[in-house]
Amino acid sequence: MDYGMIGKIDKAKRYAQEPDRFHFNSFVVTMEGENNRHTVHYENGVWDCDCDFFRSRGRCSHTMALEIILEGMVVNEAVHS
Ligand SMILES: [Zn+2]
Repeated sequence: MDYGMIGKIDKAKRYAQEPDRFHFNSFVVTMEGENNRHTVHYENGVWDCDCDFFRSRGRCSHTMALEIILEGMVVNEAVHS
């Protein structure tokens, strides 16, 4: 492997240890719930989930689990609302 790539791999490993550098703008996640699969959308700080609980409450276990996983990389509604 060339030295240029070795340097980039080292840098990637360092960046991966610093999640605060990353800010997700949008993504779609398929989440395996206990009973069903759910599709979670995230777009510029706005969450959406196809489950019934989210429809009535605006948050659900699926979006909150992702907030925990992606802490610091997405807008945390618990902090900002
Ligand atoms: Zn949900």
